[in-house]
Amino acid sequence: MKYHKPQDFDEASRLAAGAKGATRFLAGGTDVLVQMRADVFTPDEIIDLKHIPGVKDITRRADGGWTIGIAVSGAEMSEHADLHAEWPGLVEAMDLIGSTQVQGRATLVGNLCNASPAADSVPAMIAAGVTVTVTGPNGSREVAVEDIPTGPGKTALARGELISAVNIPARGDHGGDAYERFIPRTEMDIAVVGVGINLRLDGDTVTEARVGLGAVAPTALLVQEAADAIIGTTLDDAALDKLAAATSAACKPINDKRGTVEFRTHVAGVLARRVALTAYKRAKG
Ligand SMILES: Cc1cc2nc3c(=O)[nH]c(=O)nc-3n(C[C@H](O)[C@H](O)[C@H](O)COP(=O)(O)OP(=O)(O)OC[C@H]3O[C@@H](n4cnc5c(N)ncnc54)[C@H](O)[C@@H]3O)c2cc1C
Repeated sequence: MKYHKPQDFDEASRLAAGAKGATRFLAGGTDVLVQMRADVFTPDEIIDLKHIPGVKDITRRADGGWTIGIAVSGAEMSEHADLHAEWPGLVEAMDLIGSTQVQGRATLVGNLCNASPAADSVPAMIAAGVTVTVTGPNGSREVAVEDIPTGPGKTALARGELISAVNIPARGDHGGDAYERFIPRTEMDIAVVGVGINLRLDGDTVTEARVGLGAVAPTALLVQEAADAIIGTTLDDAALDKLAAATSAACKPINDKRGTVEFRTHVAGVLARRVALTAYKRAKG
């Protein structure tokens, strides 16, 4: 196996484009190294991104948004007071990942590119309207998070492409987000359903909303019908009923030992109600 330590993203892209055999990028390693140890998957080439300058930085942009370096861990996000205060749902989603040890390494980008349909940070990022900067042989482009996973274990990244930054939009006034998942145990389990909601208010009325849904389809989903159900409402019972129905209707889950199709579909609606109420409360301040 070949190990590479590029000093910038262009070099990382060139290495990936020229690699022979299966390649993995190394961010926190909590998926890559665990899969290697368990003999699930052993890459021919590993491209370690942690030594590229700036990858551990959390930076406030001039437009008020945040740029998160690709090697920033969940623990570092949780400990960042301003980021946590502005995007509690997104930070809490990351905070659900694994144990304290895993938290010290796991990254947003690794969670996204491992492309598990049950990845916790992905519905929260979709709800927040997060984009990623993709760097490749033809330069860089900005891509919405919901357009990165294409199926279990698969992404839209072409050969030689990698993610070089995570871009969180400006919070703006009167906004709030939240994320919750259902797991069969109290911790250290994989989501059976995960729901992230981000909304903005004018007075008591919801003026903008985004709903991200995880673990109930081959990829995490942006559910426009669920957002439409609460935009223009004061999140009264009728709106919450419509939100729950639209969220459940978007589910295309599998049956497995951790949850049946019927159970996952029902729980998605229940969680959407709860998460919307939390996001609304946060938006009220
Ligand atoms: C004990 C344990 C518990 C866990 N619990 C959870 C949980 O509750 N919820 C959950 O969602 N996940 C969980 N995970 C999975 C894992 O921790 C997360 O998916 C984590 O966010 C992966 O991030 P990483 O930086 O460690 O990724 P890595 O292992 O470094 O990489 C993961 C994948 O992303 C790719 N990649 C990395 N960086 C880039 C880049 N810049 N550009 C393109 N591709 C890239 C790699 O090639 C690889 O395919 C758990 C893992 C363990 C070991």
